[in-house]
Amino acid sequence: MSDNVQIIKPTNFIRNQINTDLDSGLHNSILTRFPPEPNGFLHIGHAKSICLNFGTAKDYDGRCNLRFDDTNPAKEDIEYVHSIKQDIQWLGFDWSGEVKYSSSYFDKFYQCAEELISKGLAYVCFLSAVETHEYRGTLKQPGQNSPNRDTSIEQNKILFKKMKEGKFKEGECVLRAKIDMSSSFMCMRDPTLYRIRFETHHQTNNDWCIYPMYDFAHCIGDAIEGVTHSLCTLEFQDNRRIYDWLLEHLDEFNKTDRPHQYEFSRLNLEYATTSKRKLKILVDSNHVSGWNDPRMPTISGLRRRGYTPASIRDFSERVGVSKVNSLTDVSILESSVRNDLNAMAPRSMAVVNPIKLVIENYPNDKIEPLKAPVHPQNEAMGNREIFFSREIYIDKEDFTEVPPNNKYKRLAINKEVRLRNAYVIKATHFDSDNDGNIKTVYCTYDPDTLGKNPSDGRKVKGVIHFVESSKAISAEFRIYDRLFLESNPAKFDDLSSSINPNSLEIKNGFVEPSLASAKAEKAYQFEREGYFCRDSESEGLVFNKTVGLRDTWNQ
Ligand code: ATP
Ligand code: MG
Repeated sequence: MSDNVQIIKPTNFIRNQINTDLDSGLHNSILTRFPPEPNGFLHIGHAKSICLNFGTAKDYDGRCNLRFDDTNPAKEDIEYVHSIKQDIQWLGFDWSGEVKYSSSYFDKFYQCAEELISKGLAYVCFLSAVETHEYRGTLKQPGQNSPNRDTSIEQNKILFKKMKEGKFKEGECVLRAKIDMSSSFMCMRDPTLYRIRFETHHQTNNDWCIYPMYDFAHCIGDAIEGVTHSLCTLEFQDNRRIYDWLLEHLDEFNKTDRPHQYEFSRLNLEYATTSKRKLKILVDSNHVSGWNDPRMPTISGLRRRGYTPASIRDFSERVGVSKVNSLTDVSILESSVRNDLNAMAPRSMAVVNPIKLVIENYPNDKIEPLKAPVHPQNEAMGNREIFFSREIYIDKEDFTEVPPNNKYKRLAINKEVRLRNAYVIKATHFDSDNDGNIKTVYCTYDPDTLGKNPSDGRKVKGVIHFVESSKAISAEFRIYDRLFLESNPAKFDDLSSSINPNSLEIKNGFVEPSLASAKAEKAYQFEREGYFCRDSESEGLVFNKTVGLRDTWNQ
């Protein structure tokens, strides 16, 4: 890049904050983190957070950590740890240093809890869950102090140690911060810091039976790592008070350059859900074939569907960062992938709903090799070999006996069209079965029209695609529609009522022979049909439709 070229990225409140902190000398460089809970596969909302955290760090020559927020062993699984790492790298990002785990700070968290107890700022509380709820008060009414709030420091130290040693039952007691039971922020009414769980943890096995809450672990994890800007979604806005309170009351972390939390709005995508809990229900109840079903808004589903890393990064950039919750139009995502694939996907021909077409004036035994460009706008991508003969397949949709109007540009009796990359043909008659379904169309071709217009000046407007029949390879096409019927399925707790029963349509047709060796997840443009990629989980030639050539939702 020459010196006078600058990358101009739209600014946002996070960049403004970073600029302020770098200008004032508060920080010399920035460190962000992406903190997934390993309890599901990542989705498009996480992709936004990944692009924001890793992307911002990259733009500022800073660093971004990957930290598994693994403090809730009941729902976590190592399978998710693997898929999350793979998805981040696939998106084109890399974390700074080793992968981090909140669980590797369990000793430190324990010491921090002891420090708070020693300062009279935390206590072991024996209220039941129902009582805790009652004592909490409401938005209009202050809460009441727990009867254990004034237990002595010495006694609390003993009780907390007993919690750690497994001397209490699950749910019998918790450690709480002693903040303010009448705070107007409900989350500040003595929040829970630790709870008892007799669970085996995927990193620490059975070493611990007490596990820290997110609010306690997160800020301390950030501070241990030296995170400068801790970016999270808006639902944690109130919890920022706990974040600040904890770091300000822990001697080691109460410094001017300690981490600060900034909140941005979650991405909600139309006709999709970005709740891991709900995505898991879709998987567990077999509404989809798995986390990476091409209809899923997961990163692995989008990848299998043919989305590219660049398209998802572009989408994240386009939706931007704000503090306003909204529902993002799915056509923005689709146009990002369409733009990327239009520029780079090799062209090919596939017939999704085949009917036979016989060219009666073409020699019987001849198979003619023809050259077709791999990309019509990019000569450097070269040519591919296609074939032509007396029998070819065309799409059912491209033939009708009588044109419905004079705008009709496809094949009809006595009407000419061009076969893409080949000759001009004219339909003469057709066969149909007893139910009236067209079986075979008969044509003549004009031998003088390969790569040129008819010499007598006849205008042939329409172009249709085809595949030569003896060399054609059978293929399955999976055509996807929206997974939900509702643009905002989040309105329903039970998603099953909103599921689109026709979100997958399977077609059997033919592709060009060059596609026999198509690599999984590599995108092609099937001319006139849309963008497709070979399915990574199927044995034979199965193609997933990524997106159509044009936005058709709003037509
Ligand atoms: P869920 O509510 O689906 O379980 P989560 O927020 O608990 O999601 P995490 O694994 O904790 O999921 O998320 C890791 C990071 O990704 C967090 O910083 C979170 O704020 C961010 N994130 C999660 N969902 C979205 C979303 N829809 N839009 C933007 N960021 C998101
Ligand atoms: Mg979370």
